[in-house]
Amino acid sequence: MALIVQKYGGSSVADPESIKRVAKRIVETRKAGNEVVVAVSAMGDTTDELIDLAHQVTPIPEPRELDMLLTAGERISMALLAMAIKSMGYDARSFTGSQAGMITDARHGAARIVDVTPGRIREAVDEGAIVIVAGFQGFSRESRDITTLGRGGSDTTAVALAAALEASVCEIYTDVDGVFTSDPRVVPMAKKIDYITSEEMLELAASGAKVLHIRAVEYARRHGVTLHVRSSFNNGEGTYVLNETTDDYAEKLAALQGRLQERGKTVEEPIIAGVATDLSEAKITVVGVPDVPGKAAQIFKIVAKTNANIDMIVQNVSAAATSLTDISFTLPKGDGQRVLQALRAEQSDVGFQSLQYDDQIGKLALVGAGMRSNAGVSAALFDALFTAGINIEMISTSEIRISVVTRADTVAEAARVVHKAFGLDAETQAVVYAGTGR
Ligand code: ASP
Ligand code: MG
Repeated sequence: MALIVQKYGGSSVADPESIKRVAKRIVETRKAGNEVVVAVSAMGDTTDELIDLAHQVTPIPEPRELDMLLTAGERISMALLAMAIKSMGYDARSFTGSQAGMITDARHGAARIVDVTPGRIREAVDEGAIVIVAGFQGFSRESRDITTLGRGGSDTTAVALAAALEASVCEIYTDVDGVFTSDPRVVPMAKKIDYITSEEMLELAASGAKVLHIRAVEYARRHGVTLHVRSSFNNGEGTYVLNETTDDYAEKLAALQGRLQERGKTVEEPIIAGVATDLSEAKITVVGVPDVPGKAAQIFKIVAKTNANIDMIVQNVSAAATSLTDISFTLPKGDGQRVLQALRAEQSDVGFQSLQYDDQIGKLALVGAGMRSNAGVSAALFDALFTAGINIEMISTSEIRISVVTRADTVAEAARVVHKAFGLDAETQAVVYAGTGR
């Protein structure tokens, strides 16, 4: 008997009808002869509503209490889902994160899983029950408190359960058909990807693709968990995220390609896996930095102390006459003011002239493992942007990714032209079923 872990996101369990529909799906998986463990998110936008509620009580909610509050969202959906399954004549039991053995560190709102002890889950499964686990939450042995894993953390709960229970696959159910070559809400001609390596998925998730939580992809990659991202609104196969680093990769890939071929699909390896866009970052430029050793170190030490997560960095060639240079970097908008303040405080010490802040930038990332062995990818990218009259403000690359920064209001257009230029456009528009894409 195979053990399958399934995760249902908030938009898949948004109301009682949806919960019943999901319950039916879970029962069908069970009827097909599988053991089933489910991680579930809070209904619809419950988590956001609970956060709003907290802010109506106090401007800065105590992190411990906020976690206590937010975990209630998943308790509601898990209990309702278990009831719905029970009423269909199947044994089902719900468990909180802490009952399920999701042991985390003590960081409220951003806890990391340090251990999974799924004894009770195993027992319930062995007794023939379908198990429903509250996503996104855990328990810290250190503080003996309830924690949450950060927004979107239910994916990580599912993957951690799949790893601990050695599940054959971790199915992530969402409101789109799978992972797309781009966000269908931005690029309507985006198409579903049948399979992708976990390395490419990581780059896409890091570049702003929201379909999978980046920490879930990291966890799956580290523990060799196969992910299957699919829609809870139909029965089609979605996207498999395969771990190219595990021993059974070739075997799994061949089996999957065989299945796809039977259905008349072509399975040639694409050079480009997808195009991601991100409007969540801002750019800070430190103007007039003395071009002498140690200045970059000094600047980024100041930035690091603010705990801001910086992304791209560009330093200009210094002007010969002045020996001054500019250093620009991007970071989440939410960190912008804090970093500006920290830099301003040390301006005379570092000796730069001024600071510029720009929160009207957009980032586009082109990702594909095929870049390693194919020349001309950057030239084709820049040419597509040039033809569309889109100006590039910053460029950065990794082995399998090229990212550019443009004006915020041109990034969607940029994604569409690049998507087309690399032959990724589908024949028909993608279907978006429901939800907000969160
Ligand atoms: N309910 C939580 C959130 O909205 C966790 C999740 O959906 O994965 O962030
Ligand atoms: Mg949610």
